[in-house]
Amino acid sequence: MIDLSHFSSFFVANWKLNSSFEFINNFVSSLNIDKSTKKCVSICAPYIYLNHLQVKRKDFYLGAQDCSCFEGGAYTGEVSAKMLNEVGTSFCIVGHSERRQYFNESNKIIKLKAIRLIENNIIPIICIGETLEEKNNNKTQNILKNQLDESVPESSNQFNTIIAYEPIWAIGTGLTPSLDEIENAHRYIKKLNKKFFNFKIIYGGSVNSKNSKPISKIDIVNGALIGGASLNINEFNQIIR
Ligand code: PEP
Repeated sequence: MIDLSHFSSFFVANWKLNSSFEFINNFVSSLNIDKSTKKCVSICAPYIYLNHLQVKRKDFYLGAQDCSCFEGGAYTGEVSAKMLNEVGTSFCIVGHSERRQYFNESNKIIKLKAIRLIENNIIPIICIGETLEEKNNNKTQNILKNQLDESVPESSNQFNTIIAYEPIWAIGTGLTPSLDEIENAHRYIKKLNKKFFNFKIIYGGSVNSKNSKPISKIDIVNGALIGGASLNINEFNQIIR
């Protein structure tokens, strides 16, 4: 498992259901990671491309977007944490709102996935966040508390787990919370449980080359999870710079 304490910040690209060999070759050859900084860059690609990305790898860490909650056996179509480890995966997103929404993933399933990942020396990036309706009804904190209570396993700690605060209404919409709202949500998570105080917490939701700087300047924001903008190498290079 990689040592999270070695890094000052984390920039995680979530390519979702996008990619091709040609895209990866172009992306990696233009990717510009400054090795002198303590920034950790991870690229979460579709499973089928992980091996290719691993071969091409330069200065970034391999990430997956999901994994099975099962260890192995008769579960057609699934990919286990052990398999992800075998191809060199260091990080894996779990509980992304798109999986919660389109694949009915519950907190209980997300917790099992995080357990499997930790057992296999992969850092789970556990995503939490509220809908616009929940935000407008002042339910953000209740939602975050419930998601954290139910999806973060007992085996999680500051060394083996990252939390991603991703307001659902900000994902892929071009909308972002104010800097104060981001800071308050991160502060709330840290205070919720003594154990979370030293966790690395990153922000996700319409991060781009313009807003990434002010967002990452917030002290208690430890980096960003980047969807749409991570598909554009120029944008992504500017974000991680
Ligand atoms: C995401 O997919 O986690 C995400 C934050 O997407 P986007 O950056 O496109 O909002």
